[in-house]
Order: sequence, then C-alpha cells, then structure tokens
Amino acid sequence: MNLHVHDAVAADCGLAWNNTFSALSPAFFTRLAPTPLPAPHWVGRNDGLAQELGLDLDWFHSDAALQVFSGNQRLAGTDPLASVYSGHQFGVWAGQLGDGRAILLGETAAGTEVQLKGSGLTPYSRMGDGRAVLRSSIREFLCSEAMHALGIATTRALCVTGSPNPVRRETIETSAVVTRTAPSFIRFGHFEHFASRNQLLELRQLADYVIDRHYPACRKSSEFQGNAYATLLQAVSERTATLAAQWQAVGFCHGVLNTDNMSILGLTIDYGPFQFLDAFVPNHICNHSDTQGRYAFDRQPNVVYWNLLRLGQALQPLIGAPAVVMAALDSYRTRFPAEFMALMRAKLGLSSAQTGEADVMDNGLRLLVENGVDYTIFWRRLSHAVAQHNFEPVRDLFADRAALDVWLLSYQELLALTDKGLAADLMLKTNPRFILRNHLGEQAIRAAQQGDLSELQTLQTLLARPFDEHPGFEAYADFPPDWASTISISCSS
Ligand code: AMP
Ligand code: MG
Repeated sequence: MNLHVHDAVAADCGLAWNNTFSALSPAFFTRLAPTPLPAPHWVGRNDGLAQELGLDLDWFHSDAALQVFSGNQRLAGTDPLASVYSGHQFGVWAGQLGDGRAILLGETAAGTEVQLKGSGLTPYSRMGDGRAVLRSSIREFLCSEAMHALGIATTRALCVTGSPNPVRRETIETSAVVTRTAPSFIRFGHFEHFASRNQLLELRQLADYVIDRHYPACRKSSEFQGNAYATLLQAVSERTATLAAQWQAVGFCHGVLNTDNMSILGLTIDYGPFQFLDAFVPNHICNHSDTQGRYAFDRQPNVVYWNLLRLGQALQPLIGAPAVVMAALDSYRTRFPAEFMALMRAKLGLSSAQTGEADVMDNGLRLLVENGVDYTIFWRRLSHAVAQHNFEPVRDLFADRAALDVWLLSYQELLALTDKGLAADLMLKTNPRFILRNHLGEQAIRAAQQGDLSELQTLQTLLARPFDEHPGFEAYADFPPDWASTISISCSS
C-alpha cells in the first residue's frame, strides 16, 4: 500500500481544486496515493464530460492525463484519500467496508468529486486486491453514461485506462481503472458506519456536511418542527424514490443493492452485475451470485425501502423519536408509486393522468410477461405505431394476438382524448431505442480485450443519444441473440 502521496505532479489540467471532504476529520478517511498501474493505455474517454468539468481537452488527450487517471501521477491541488463506510450486504450487517479499491483524488472548485476505481490497495481492501478488471470497468464506463443520457441520476464516467497488469478472478484477467465523478460519493453506509460505533459526533458532522453541501433547503424547512436531519431523511427518501421509479420504468436491474451501494444523493452508483431487461421478466435476477433473488428486478422498490430504513436507523440518534424517522421515510411510499405511474404514463404517450390508465398499464405489462416480449422493443414499436397509425409491428411481437388486440383497443380508448402527434413525440423521447444490453457490452468487451476499441466507441455514440434513430445501427437496437441468455455476470469484478 502506497501511503505516501506521490511527489510527481502532472502539468496543469485546467481545473482548480477545493477538497471539502478531505477537510473533514481524519475519522472519515485515510490519505493515500493510488498504486501505480504499469504500462497504461487508453481504453475510453468521455470528452463531453471532460468539457462539462472544464478539463483542458488537449491535456485530457495527453500522456500526462493517461498517467494521472491510471494513478501514476498526482495532479497539483488534489488530496487523494480512501473513505471508510460500513453496510448491510444481502440483508446482513457486514461491518466495516470502505473504499477498498477506490481513491478520491479530490473535488473540483465547482464541486465535482473525481475518483479512481481500481487504483490499488487501501486500508479498506479486506481480502481484495484493490484492482478492477477491464470487463467490469468497460461496463461501468458505458452504463454510467447510458443512464445519464436516459435522464437517470448516476455517477458519471470520465475515462477508462487499461494495463497488462494481471489480476486473478475466476481466471487471470487484466487491470483497468475507471475515473468516475459525482457531486459526492457518500453512501448510506457512511452513516451506518458511525452510527454502529456510536460515534455521534462524526455522525452529526457527516450529516451537517451533506446538508450544507447538497441539501441546504433542509436547514430552512419548517417540516418536522425544523428538524433538519429528519428533513434530510425525507429528501433522500424522495430522491431515492424517483431513482427507483426510473429504474423500474426503463427496465434496469442494479444487481447489488446493498446499503453501501446506495448514494446519499439518489444516484445510481457501483455498476457491477447490472442488467437492462431483454424480455420482460419481472422476477429476473441479473446477479449470478444472488442465489436467493434478493435483488431481483421486481424486488428493487421494496429492497430500496429496506435500505432507507437502515439509513433512518442510522440517523435516528440525530432525529430523535422513531415515529419521526418513520414519518420522514413515508415519503418514499407515496413518492415511488406516483413517480412510477408518471413515467409509465409518458411511456404510453399520455401527457396527463387519465381514468383507467393503471389498468391499461398493468394489463399491458402482464401481456408482455405472458408473451415473453422484449421490454425496450415493445415500447419503441408502440411509439412508432402511434406515430404511424400502424400497430402491425407491435402485434408481431405477441403470440396471443387476440389478447393483444383487446389491450390495443383499451389503449387506443385511453389515447382518444390525446393528440396523436404529441403522444408520439412524448413516447419517442421517453422510450429509448438503444440500451446497454448485456450482449452489446459483452461484444465491446471482447473486442477491447483484443485491442479493438471500435465497438466500445460505437456504443458510446449510440448510448449518448438513446432516443435518436441512428440509421445504419439497427443491429444495436435489435433483439438479443440466443447466446445473450448464457452470459453470466457475478459480483466478481
Ligand atoms: P461492491 O460489491 O463492488 O460494491 O464492493 C463491496 C466492498 O468490497 C467495497 O468495500 C469494495 O471497496 C470492496 N471491494 C470489491 N472489490 C474489491 C477489490 N478487488 N479489492 C478491494 N476491495 C474490493
Ligand atoms: Mg460498492
């Protein structure tokens, strides 16, 4: 472990730094430098995000940047550290975890944290090697940006660098480092950590930090008799409800919803064995290691609430009465179904609530299950059908056409009061044509492992604009091939 900060400082990247997390007390982290990554090369870069951050693009494309984002050189002004957290994994208290392979480089003056993932051992690595493999790094890189383009809150991914450095998983693989960004990487588990140790001073310091930087309105609210911590819990519950509703509406299965993988900002974080549904199978389990199906697609909304309960428990010493904790959490239970319905309404092309909409939605989803229909292709074809007044391509997806025709009648009745042009516009902006299906990621990974980055770059381009048609790239919007169902994705990454 490299506990000393590198002396080598890379040339100026165009960013100013202002490290607020590292200004907290040492109870929250260990300062350390990334472990150098031998012979790094570029795997992927996200120029759009680089520009949003204010990075100098010439610098971003330079060898100095390659060295910085591989952990081989330090940027002046950064203050690298690994933070400590705890958490519940698969429903069981796991005790101390922490950034076992992530190192926060620092926070830009504009308030974006920049973190390396896979950058070597930290005091929190436990049995791990501190590294990440190329395969999972490419998945995180592509999916973060795909989610962002879908309008779903997420950590972002700036770049991936690879190295011949070998790491052992089920087989020997090569290492990679993902550079990711977020306004904060604080997790529910950070709060659980200090609460579990009865370190109430630190617990309060952390909550104050999060409120001041990310939820300032909590200080001014008169809700819960001005209890800012209860208001914080309510605000987190609401953001998390919106996030979970978006996952369910788009067909995203996270795969490892442990409390240490829950962002205090309601961001999608820690892309591991995630999967976008192909056929609509509500109880689909995407994580090969999840033998009980705790994190099955249709269990996500409940398991997210369970995680919020753990956050509520952790914040209770600051909030006070358990009844207030429960009242703050209650917003999840009202917000989630409302958000979900609003999203499904838009998928159906309805710009406002209609009587009978819930039945039409439920019946439609049931038909998808019964007929094994591809979720994304269904919604996209339905959008085009409304635009072109031709439902045949939708009918082609169903074995039970009679049942579908009954449903289509009820759907068209629902749409009767809506302008079809407006409905189609809304649907084509809501129902993506391109998602990061497992087999697409797998193809890009296999090519990248052979040194061919073109598939990865094609996916980057398509997923950055998932609602556009992208003529010539029909194959990327098509049904998954048969071999897609044989891809097995576990926690091993
Ligand atoms: P995850 O399931 O990827 O969210 O990781 C759970 C915990 O294990 C976190 O504390 C990670 O930092 C840690 N971890 C996962 N993989 C590794 C690794 N290869 N080396 C060190 N720590 C790891
Ligand atoms: Mg994690």
